[in-house]
Formats: sequence, C-alpha cells, structure tokens
Amino acid sequence: MKYAVIDRGDALSKSLAEKFHQLAVEHGFVRNEEAPEIVVSIGGDGTLLQAFHNYVNQITDVAFVGVHTGHLGFYADWQADELEQLVRMMATETPRIVRYPLAEIELETATEKCHYMSLNEFTLKGVDGTLVAQINVNDELFEMFRGDGIVISTPSGSTAYNKSVGGAIVHPSIESLQIAEIASINNRVFRTLGSSVMLPKHHHCDIISKKEQRILLTIDHLSLMHSDIKSIRCCVSSRKVSFVRYRPFTFWNRVREAFLGYDASGERKE
Ligand code: NAP
Ligand code: MN
Repeated sequence: MKYAVIDRGDALSKSLAEKFHQLAVEHGFVRNEEAPEIVVSIGGDGTLLQAFHNYVNQITDVAFVGVHTGHLGFYADWQADELEQLVRMMATETPRIVRYPLAEIELETATEKCHYMSLNEFTLKGVDGTLVAQINVNDELFEMFRGDGIVISTPSGSTAYNKSVGGAIVHPSIESLQIAEIASINNRVFRTLGSSVMLPKHHHCDIISKKEQRILLTIDHLSLMHSDIKSIRCCVSSRKVSFVRYRPFTFWNRVREAFLGYDASGERKE
C-alpha cells in the first residue's frame, strides 16, 4: 500500500509522523508522496485541509485518514496514542470508504477564468468596505447583497465557519451547498433573505460583483485577494473526497462530542 504523511509541524505531530514511517516499514507499506493511495494527516482539521489541497488534483485517487494531536477533530478521528492500532488496522483490515461532497467554484476575473475546490468552504469578503454583490440562483436574480461577506460551505464544512455565522449543520450524505451571510445590511433600502439557504446538487449560484472593489476570496485555509472579480459560480462538485474508516465514528457523534460535550450516557464533560 502506497502512503504519504503530512503533519502540522509541531514536535508531537512530527514525532508521530516519524513513528508512523517506522511502523509502516515493518508492515511493508511503501512511502510515495507523489501518488499515495492513503494520505495520513497528523495534526488538526487544518492539517487535513492542507493535505486535501496538496492532493486536490488527484482527489479521486486518494483517501484520507486523520490523527489528531490537539482536541477532537472533525476530520481527524484517531488519537495520538492509537497510532499503532491504526497502522495495524491499515495492514490487516479492509476499510469502509466514506465519501463527502465538495464545493466547486469558477472564478471569472477581467482576464481569466479559474476553478477551485473546497472541503470546508469558500468565503467572499469586502476588503475596503461592504461587499456589494448580486446573487443569482440558477441564472435568475435572487437578491442584492450588502454586508461583510458570504460563506459557501460544504456539508462537512458546515460545522466550521458556517456554524459561526448561524448556518445549519448538514449531514455529509446530503449533497448540497449552504450559502450563509456574514453581517448583511438590512433596512428599508437593502434587503437580503437573512437566513442561510441550501442548494441541492445540480443547482448553481452566481455571485456577481456590483462595484469596483477588492474582494478577499478564501478557499478553506487559503486566501487570495482580487481587485477584478467579475463573478463566482458555485456548485456542488462532481468529485468527492474519500476517507478511510476502520471503525465507526458517526458525524452526529462528532458534533455532540465537539460542541455539546455529552457522552453516550448523557453526562457532560467540561
Ligand atoms: P483555524 O483558525 O485553526 O480554524 C478554526 C477552527 O476551525 C479550528 O479549531 C479548526 O480545527 C476548526 N475546523 C476546521 N475545519 C472544521 C470543520 N470542518 N468542522 C469543525 N471545525 C473545524 O484555521 P485552520 O485550521 O487553517 O482551518 C481553516 C478553517 O477555519 C476554515 O476552513 C474555516 O472553516 C475556519 N474558520 C472559521 C472562522 C470562524 O468560525 N469565525 C474564521 C476563519 C476560519 P483545528 O484546530 O483542528 O485545526
Ligand atoms: Mn487549525
């Protein structure tokens, strides 16, 4: 089995990466950074986002597994002290492959068109003042937006930035995009829906810049600044990301453990 490891860069994550390589040799795995079948991310959810973007161009050929070295991760479901168990299971078990939807955009600027994919979300923010944009859904005008920004999130990203702006948490089996507002201006002159909306697969939305403005576009943990964005078309990608699961850890259990702190018996951990 061909594998690659990416770590967060702190001492613990680095030492676990070293340990993983040693255990991998013992089990006959082949280290291959260019064309791995499994990518092991050691760190946090941010590390897994980096791993995703390292392999985004070959996303249908790789599967990810995350080991967390901080608190519970949404994408990292193995603990640091379980590394040996993980390697043993990788050597002996056939994992379940879990596939999550991704978001895709086509960015059109004055000079080019380019495509990006995200695992968590895209955000658009005004740099110098409010963002002014027209939002079309399926090629028809939906609303005129004025405010700090817009978050376009995937289901698995719905627990990240989207949640902070009041968006709903969406199970990753629902192939959809969620569009949430960041501090929209609403008064008698400007009007937006206010609540977030979910688009199903095969629908699309266009965010069209309505003034000369600098816009900060974030793609998961990455950010790009543009002064000549014409529009951004958003849709559910036809590609998905794969995770290898050697034991069940359901999405709702992750949500409960990360945000509520209840264990299965109803006790709350601080
Ligand atoms: P970060 O500042 O470390 O990320 C913020 C927090 O979001 C971290 O605790 C991170 O976990 C967690 N996180 C990442 N993906 C998640 C997910 N799918 N579900 C639940 N929590 C998640 O920066 P980063 O590690 O590079 O991550 C980038 C992400 O941060 C962006 O994609 C965005 O979703 C999020 N973000 C959130 C806000 C906000 O809520 N106001 C603002 C900016 C960015 P780890 O500590 O395990 O990395
Ligand atoms: Mn982080």
